[in-house]
Amino acid sequence: MNHVEIHRDECKGCAVCVAACPHGCLVIGDTLNLMGYQYVEFVGNDRCTACGLCFTVCPEPGALVVYGMKKV
Ligand code: SF4
Ligand code: SF4
Repeated sequence: MNHVEIHRDECKGCAVCVAACPHGCLVIGDTLNLMGYQYVEFVGNDRCTACGLCFTVCPEPGALVVYGMKKV
C-alpha cells in the first residue's frame, strides 16, 4: 500500500504539501513537534497514489518520505 511517512520534527507545518496533494491525504494536526510547529499528518491510506507531489514541493529535506513512489 502506498504510504507517506512523516518525520514530524523536521516539518515546519507550512502546509504546502497539504495544498499540493490532489487526494486530500495530508492534514495539519493539532499536536506540536519539538520545534513548536503543528506538523503534518498522513490520513490518506487508501487514497494515496504515491505520486510524489508532496515530497517534491516540501521545502524541508527529510520531512516526509513517500513509499510506493514510481521511478521516473
Ligand atoms: S504521494 Fe501524492 S497522493 Fe500521496 S500524499 Fe503525496 S501528494 Fe498525496
Ligand atoms: S511536510 Fe514539508 S511541505 Fe508539508 S507541512 Fe511539513 S514542511 Fe511543509
